[in-house]
Amino acid sequence: MSETSDIGILGSGPAALAIAGACIRRGVSVTLVAPSPRQPWEPNYCLWADEVPAALSSVIERTWPEVSVATSLGERHLQRPYVKLDTHAFQQRLWEDLRVGSARIVPDRAARLEHHDDGARIHIDGGGTERVRLVIDASGARSPFVERVHRRAPAYQVAYGVFLHAPGHRLDLERSTLMDFRPVASDADDPPSFLYLLPLSPDRLFVEETSLAHRPGVSLSLLRERLEARLHSLGLGQSLRVGEERCSIAMGLGLPARGQPLVPFGAAASMVHPATGYSVAHALRKAELVAEAIVGALAADDVQRAIGAGNAAVWPRSERATWELYAFGLETLVNMNVAETARFFDAFFRMPTEAWSGYLGGTLGPGELGAVMTRLFRSLPAAVQWQLVRTSVSTGVAPLARTFLQTGTT
Ligand SMILES: Cc1cc2nc3c(=O)[nH]c(=O)nc-3n(C[C@H](O)[C@H](O)[C@H](O)COP(=O)(O)OP(=O)(O)OC[C@H]3O[C@@H](n4cnc5c(N)ncnc54)[C@H](O)[C@@H]3O)c2cc1C
Repeated sequence: MSETSDIGILGSGPAALAIAGACIRRGVSVTLVAPSPRQPWEPNYCLWADEVPAALSSVIERTWPEVSVATSLGERHLQRPYVKLDTHAFQQRLWEDLRVGSARIVPDRAARLEHHDDGARIHIDGGGTERVRLVIDASGARSPFVERVHRRAPAYQVAYGVFLHAPGHRLDLERSTLMDFRPVASDADDPPSFLYLLPLSPDRLFVEETSLAHRPGVSLSLLRERLEARLHSLGLGQSLRVGEERCSIAMGLGLPARGQPLVPFGAAASMVHPATGYSVAHALRKAELVAEAIVGALAADDVQRAIGAGNAAVWPRSERATWELYAFGLETLVNMNVAETARFFDAFFRMPTEAWSGYLGGTLGPGELGAVMTRLFRSLPAAVQWQLVRTSVSTGVAPLARTFLQTGTT
């Protein structure tokens, strides 16, 4: 059996590496347990430019000064820069932080955790045990180690995307398409899906058809068919496919239950935004705060207090409450048809930039979120308002929504 590490981290995705680096920078020892920890990441991670920490600015592959959002009701160009990270450089950059300190890497899966008052044991799948004082679980949305406040089954964001070699394409390199909800295929009525388009260079594009949230998840084959129809309508049907992305993200997982003997982080901690599916910016933003809380309490030799402080930093009370409201936002999306979705997003992106940006970033406090939701509700057509009221009653969030909406209007 090895020496006891201060912190055992499960996983080697963005959340695990971000929190590992933040802990190591504070001088504690870390054991990272993950199967194939160096396996190259595949997703094309994108964020709003203002969410990228300064230390990661070197891994930005491309910036679009504006994004477009289109529905059958019209198209809007939004002046908020959006970036794609270079996935390989992003992964390498986060690993660099682990090299400077004391990190032990165990290239296997955690099979079982054993918790004691003064520490924990991580039982490794292939045999052996790692002793640590505290476990941070960043092993993704399917973690079996995290107990959740389960309310309802997750919805799924599903997307099918391809890289295209398209020399001479006419698309504006200064603008990406965040959402184009205009239906193209004859069967594109229900469930709604949209085109996401990143012009990467004069001869390279990334195009993806995305179902924002559906229960159960929309099939990849349907999205692939719709993407083909879109490519034909854009005159790109014959362009060479040079890579693909398949995406399935569990949305609206219950928050971690309180009083657990570990600290969940990233998708394992339900940090995936319930209405967008994004979590990378959230994990990068939180990593320093959570590490600070944990390392401070560990220095005082109080493991239980460190676990409590870590969990409180991941999910402060006020953020737990606002997240429930975001989950209500998810339920409304899941229940909307194509026409309602168009009206909803048309009204959403007509709000001032700080309102829709704050909502998408998940950074609004309860009062601010209430104000944004009230404003949005008032600007929606009566049919969509009625849909929202029905959803709030059927999902049991009506009292919570009422509280926040009143807060927001005062
Ligand atoms: C194709 C795709 C594109 C996406 N694009 C974006 C985007 O542009 N922007 C954005 O913000 N979000 C995006 N997301 C959503 C989300 O941010 C990602 O899913 C992100 O990878 C979640 O990070 P994570 O580190 O929490 O979990 P994961 O990346 O899922 O990492 C989990 C880690 O845990 C490991 N693990 C699993 N089981 C065990 C175990 N038993 N023991 C130890 N380790 C274990 C895995 O090997 C992995 O290393 C995308 C998701 C997908 C699938």
